[in-house]
Amino acid sequence: MVQLPRFLVLAFPVQGCINPSLNLAKTLTRLVPGAQVTFVTSVHAHRLMTMNKGSSSSGYDSVSFAPFSDGFDDNFTPVNGERHLEEFRRRGWQAVGEILESGRKEGRPYTCLVYTFLLSWAADLAAEHNVPAAMFWMQPATVFNIYYYYFHGHREIVRDNSKNPSFSLSFPGVPLAITIKDLPSFMDESTANTYFIRFYQEMFEDLEKENTNTKIVLANTFDELEPEAIRATGKLNLIGIGPLVPADQAENKSLFQGDLFKESSRDYIDWLNTKPKTTVVYVSFGSISVLSKQQMEEMAKALLEFGRPFLWVIREKSDQGDDEEDDELSCREELEKLGMIVPWCSQMEVLSNESIGCFVSHCGWNSTLESLASGVPVVGFPQWVEQGTNAKLIEEMWKTGVRLKPNDEDGIVKSEEIKRCLELVLLGGKENGVEIVKNAKKWQNLVKEATREGGSSKKNFMAFLKTL
Ligand code: UDP
Repeated sequence: MVQLPRFLVLAFPVQGCINPSLNLAKTLTRLVPGAQVTFVTSVHAHRLMTMNKGSSSSGYDSVSFAPFSDGFDDNFTPVNGERHLEEFRRRGWQAVGEILESGRKEGRPYTCLVYTFLLSWAADLAAEHNVPAAMFWMQPATVFNIYYYYFHGHREIVRDNSKNPSFSLSFPGVPLAITIKDLPSFMDESTANTYFIRFYQEMFEDLEKENTNTKIVLANTFDELEPEAIRATGKLNLIGIGPLVPADQAENKSLFQGDLFKESSRDYIDWLNTKPKTTVVYVSFGSISVLSKQQMEEMAKALLEFGRPFLWVIREKSDQGDDEEDDELSCREELEKLGMIVPWCSQMEVLSNESIGCFVSHCGWNSTLESLASGVPVVGFPQWVEQGTNAKLIEEMWKTGVRLKPNDEDGIVKSEEIKRCLELVLLGGKENGVEIVKNAKKWQNLVKEATREGGSSKKNFMAFLKTL
């Protein structure tokens, strides 16, 4: 009997990992006839995903879920914790090992295990079970390079110049000068989250081990987007298979979404449909970042002064203490006359709505790819991790947006600056606004090219699958 290919996709339980991993699972079932995918993440993330979509199935028969308890079943605060990463490793080793073993016992062994970054241990586990493995990198290839060279000679230079934000460095494969302030925030060793750097370091050590199971890194980017960066790390070339975003409107609306947050209603789509083409400002900072009260007020003031309709995602703070009253925006009533505030939305559906003219974004990598795929220009407002690097690429490499400049004294971006950038992008301001809109459309077409039959990402993905 012919063995049908079987994949295990292991995703770290945060929104920014779940979304592209689900899109990867779905792409696998599309590209490989008869393929089955087992999607593995934490019990807590799986519970939220199913609760928010009202279904325990993926909506795709060929994808099944096998969640495991990472010890944080009731409390979704994984990004806060080194302990969570360690527990996820300890318990995941056991649970994923059992799944691989049961595949073998059933006579249907897994063809390949694909794991999201931060979970390098999964490659060793796969090797123990004689299953090939591939890592799924979900940030730009440029950021992969920056980390790689940070651990291969640049760390001392970064440390020695950490107090000088405009100190400029060059990285192979990165055609832009990168300053200290453009680097991923985990490289700032004075912050509390710097322990993450250890997981990145381990990732490269594992990928470079002589006897490693595999050196394959699938990347959610595409050759044309980062032609030099994708090939700049010697033996560790990335395979560009992206952008892995929902392919069309039907998919945007399907059950096959992994939302960890709940929409209160879907009125916003009807509301967007009443607005003229490219007139609405969409504002969202992803699934983790929270703006300070002062910054929220500046944003609100800018939106009111700009005077165009807007859709603003402000996530509910149910799990973040009881200071909700203090957080209430002073001009909420006025805001709601002009725009809509929602706790969560179907972002790809929003970005592909014709009314959207601009995306005020924290520049998370998924949001960045989604803006490129939808041809929507960006006003970048990076917060942490690699978002500053992404914003730099948006502004200086692809020229599909501008980056907000914070005030030197208090680090706040003032309403005048937000309004200036909105005018530039939405009203085609006299500087480079028109070019930005044109470039956004150009990149939207290049995304279509890369992902269609015969396009670079499609070819790369097929070539990888043939090696298995
Ligand atoms: N997202 C969404 N609705 C929202 C806000 C975000 O569907 O209201 C999705 C967005 O489309 C993206 C993901 O959540 O796929 C956020 O990932 P990203 O890498 O942009 O940022 P992170 O949340 O990891 O900071």
